[in-house]
Amino acid sequence: MSRAPGHAEPASRPKADWKCAFCKVEIRWAGPHRDRGLPANWSKEHGGPACLACRRDLAAEAAVEQQTELSFKERARLRSFALLEFEVRRDPDRSNAEIAGAVHTSVVAVQKARDRIGASSFPA
Ligand SMILES: [Zn+2]
Repeated sequence: MSRAPGHAEPASRPKADWKCAFCKVEIRWAGPHRDRGLPANWSKEHGGPACLACRRDLAAEAAVEQQTELSFKERARLRSFALLEFEVRRDPDRSNAEIAGAVHTSVVAVQKARDRIGASSFPA
């Protein structure tokens, strides 16, 4: 084997396997993992594949898009609720502390999100 070190073979230069339709971040599967599907934590949205960061944004945005009468503060609150609920639903087996760390909030806020989901109907 006489391969130049640190130089990938140009013939099979991998193009991005996935590109987020929203923020344009790109993911490439390396080596033997190439044929895997959508990257972990990505999803297919109407606009195309979405990375986790954009999925969070979309979840938060979806919560307020119909709410035209809300103040800025109320919208921010709804967005953060929606973001937390998205995170809890995405992987309910994580501890509250893990989820809180992932989205930079408090453990109490995560527990409240779980309670809201458990109650299933969002309090008006
Ligand atoms: Zn993205």
